[in-house]
Amino acid sequence: MKVADDKTIVREYFNSTGFDRWRRIYGDGEVNKVQLDIRNGHQQTVDTVIGWLKDDGNLPQLSICDAGCGVGSLSIPLAADGAKVYASDISEKMVTEAKDRALQALGNSENTIFAVQDLESLGGSYHTVICLDVLIHYPQEKVEEMISHLCSLAKSRVIMSFAPKTWALTILKKIGSFFPGPSKATRAYLHREADVVKILQNNGFSVQRQGMTKTSFYYSRLLEATRK
Ligand code: SAH
Repeated sequence: MKVADDKTIVREYFNSTGFDRWRRIYGDGEVNKVQLDIRNGHQQTVDTVIGWLKDDGNLPQLSICDAGCGVGSLSIPLAADGAKVYASDISEKMVTEAKDRALQALGNSENTIFAVQDLESLGGSYHTVICLDVLIHYPQEKVEEMISHLCSLAKSRVIMSFAPKTWALTILKKIGSFFPGPSKATRAYLHREADVVKILQNNGFSVQRQGMTKTSFYYSRLLEATRK
């Protein structure tokens, strides 16, 4: 029950209030100071991932699954650099927006496929599976299953980011009101890095590169893990 409830709430949020809010934050129009801070923080996370993949120098050879792609902030630049990207999101509105932005940025490129899909229902096999800033919607007890599923789709590598529990109080106070649900603060789920690393290890992955973005209102720990 809890799972369905959480997921339904998240889906509805990102098809309504959340869509309007996050589409603006993940855009370049005018926003308030807090939203600008979050926009800049999120962009740093995206830029770190793009930097890693570009450094490897093999983007055109990669198949990438971007699980919970939002408006395509990561998928679109990766596709522009030649990767084949399968981008999906639970929110139909987010996916429509991502498609529009991809058309604007890439024209009729064949490097992206967009789908409305929750990540539990994703299948297939990709060189790299990426999941940025989605774990915040997953309660602790659902995280193992979620990460394990993403690992099962990845031939070589998983890259994920999450709000780390070490910053718990600070984060919850500041960002609580950005998330859905009656008790807004408890709707933002934070995760212990050690737990995430352990789940990755149990699935046969070990951490390679790491990043941490911290601005005034945005906190995101970024991990790259590859198959042992
Ligand atoms: N990864 C993107 C978007 C982050 S916002 C980026 O970094 O730019 C979080 C996104 O996760 C939202 O678009 C939301 O709709 C999506 N999401 C939340 N729960 C999901 C689930 N169970 N399956 C797929 N997408 C989900």
